[in-house]
Amino acid sequence: MADMVVVRKEGLYCVPGGFYIDPWRPVERAVITHAHGDHARYGHGKYLTAASGVHVLRSRLGDIQVDGLQYGETVVHNGVTVSLHPAGHVLGSAQVRMEYQGEVWVASGDYKIEPDKTCAPFEPVRCDTFITESTFGLPIYRWEPEQSIFDDINRWWKKNADEGRPSVIFGYSFGKAQRILSGLDPSIGPIVCHGAVEPLNRVYREGGVMLPPTLMVSDVDKAALKQSIIVAPPSASGSPWMKRFGDYSDAFASGWMQLRGARRRRGVDRGFVLSDHADWPGLMSAIAATGAQRIIVTHGSIPVMVKWLCQQGLDAAGFDTEYGDDDDDVGIAPQPATEAEQAVEKQETNDA
Ligand SMILES: [Zn+2]
Ligand SMILES: [Zn+2]
Repeated sequence: MADMVVVRKEGLYCVPGGFYIDPWRPVERAVITHAHGDHARYGHGKYLTAASGVHVLRSRLGDIQVDGLQYGETVVHNGVTVSLHPAGHVLGSAQVRMEYQGEVWVASGDYKIEPDKTCAPFEPVRCDTFITESTFGLPIYRWEPEQSIFDDINRWWKKNADEGRPSVIFGYSFGKAQRILSGLDPSIGPIVCHGAVEPLNRVYREGGVMLPPTLMVSDVDKAALKQSIIVAPPSASGSPWMKRFGDYSDAFASGWMQLRGARRRRGVDRGFVLSDHADWPGLMSAIAATGAQRIIVTHGSIPVMVKWLCQQGLDAAGFDTEYGDDDDDVGIAPQPATEAEQAVEKQETNDA
């Protein structure tokens, strides 16, 4: 049987269905896994996305023609039955299940296994062929439970507040920022959000996600600012906007912070290893749970994952896509570290 999904110059294309998944060039019909910039682009005729992601998509792309599909609900396009299933990555993120003439393919988009309070938890979907991301597809990436990361963040914030110093934490404005907010302890002090973060907070709250109260910087006086934590996008780092905080401590929240070199290159005081992507064990468990015999690997560590999966007796190959340049963790990667570099950095981490 011919492949149900192929790579075209516009993006991943479902051949019998006649639609694209997260295309990077304008197309007639686009199924969007989630609203990060590298997956959700301008200029498509019709968008289809998870119902919980419609408002996010509109807040980022403006007035587009978009249909929302409840998780698990099916629609048929040219004989292909399409449904969307939670990917646990950000609000509204979905895996795309396609069934045609008894064969099932699933395109994962970006996904994370550990459940969190800001989006529906990842659900494994049985399929014959699984198209998986591989952002953190190296065995060195293993996440701590998020609560222990939140405890670390709150302890760092409390210590700074006790010393009369603002805490600034950088994280991508859509997804990562709300995840950080969901773990903050508001009894420590005021929570201030950058102007790029607050509109997304609104979308999350309207979508039923509980976030602690947040303020804009203009709402907080100088004394209160010293007790506050400020959630800002990475682009705010080093900008004039930061001057008002005086002597502050700063931190970065990202999966890349597992690499000591990444924190050094960012020049921040602290790195918190918090990712919206699956770690290595998460990728492996997700792949196993699909029961798929054929695995297609996209953005991230394609060669390493493909080699590993082939050694496990699976039929694995890579897809060359244009994802990964504007994603949360990916967008702030200091530079694509080579495997050797990462091995060295792992050694440093072990030594520390
Ligand atoms: Zn993403
Ligand atoms: Zn991505």
